Amino acid sequence: TYTLGPKISTWDNDRKAWLAQNGEFPSYVNGKPRILLVTGSPPKPCDNAIGDHYLLKSIKNKIDYCRIHGIEIVYNMAHLDKELAGYWAKLPLIRKLMLSHPEVEWIWWMDSDAMFTDMVFEIPVVKYDNYNLVVHGYPDLMFDQKSWIALNTGSFLFRNCQWSLDLLDAWAPMGPKGVVREEAGKILTANLKGRPAFEADDQSALIYLLLSQKDKYEEMVEKYHPGLGDERWPFVTHFVGCKPCGSYGDYPVERCLKSMERAFNFADNQVLNLYGFGHRGLLSPKIKRIRNETATPLDYVDQFDIRRPVHEKS
Ligand code: UDP
Ligand code: MN
Repeated sequence: TYTLGPKISTWDNDRKAWLAQNGEFPSYVNGKPRILLVTGSPPKPCDNAIGDHYLLKSIKNKIDYCRIHGIEIVYNMAHLDKELAGYWAKLPLIRKLMLSHPEVEWIWWMDSDAMFTDMVFEIPVVKYDNYNLVVHGYPDLMFDQKSWIALNTGSFLFRNCQWSLDLLDAWAPMGPKGVVREEAGKILTANLKGRPAFEADDQSALIYLLLSQKDKYEEMVEKYHPGLGDERWPFVTHFVGCKPCGSYGDYPVERCLKSMERAFNFADNQVLNLYGFGHRGLLSPKIKRIRNETATPLDYVDQFDIRRPVHEKS
């Protein structure tokens, strides 16, 4: 069967030794684990020109979030393995990044059609000390109903460790395009509630894998418990079923783009606030001044910087 590369089985020890020898590349900085956010888009332009504009908005949104929170970011446009093109492309990429950046503790994958809508909220990584995979989902839909939308693979974190490499190894064999992916799709549709008939996708495959290896994985599946980023203020918004860059979505493209525009501007307002600007409306790319200029900016900078604790409490 298909493999992602030569089998690696001693990664935890190898990485530990590497970290000990490379003190200038620590995996924890100021007590916080080093996080690398990874996203990307296809190697070629979108079918529709406006799609590329939305990809640009989407990467700007992520760059802003990462800058504010001290997270490194990678944007990938290459297909590292042509067998795993399309939505499966994230698997070989994540593996490659883990192996090439041993200093990174967590790899955080985010789809291009997912955006931060809470620029302040920080994921509570300390709570994930004993976990290797963090993915948003619904335990009842997952383990009771075996629903194909129990988990969402638009945004998830993988610890850089042997467990994650093993999971990727188990996940990938359903991905090679053509007969393998088609046949795997039939198995997934037969086993997951509500899944339409189509080729294997990464999300269904992960759900199927976690269900069939329940004993091993159940305790690893953790829901986000956002502080500020609860239902009242979504942390990440993922436009499932929308395809801004192509024409094969479940919704009219105008509705998708309008929703993305609103989510983007909602987040962008949180970024622009520090500089004294805001969008004229959630559908407007135009901005307006929201307070007067000042000759004494240092008197106010604490007040407007969203990283300050005063903002976290409200
Ligand atoms: N993607 C990529 N290269 C590709 C195709 C997809 O990097 O050639 C990424 C992109 O970030 C996209 C994600 O994979 O958002 C998931 O793919 P897609 O949006 O097609 O799936 P969906 O989110 O709709 O399930
Ligand atoms: Mn997506």
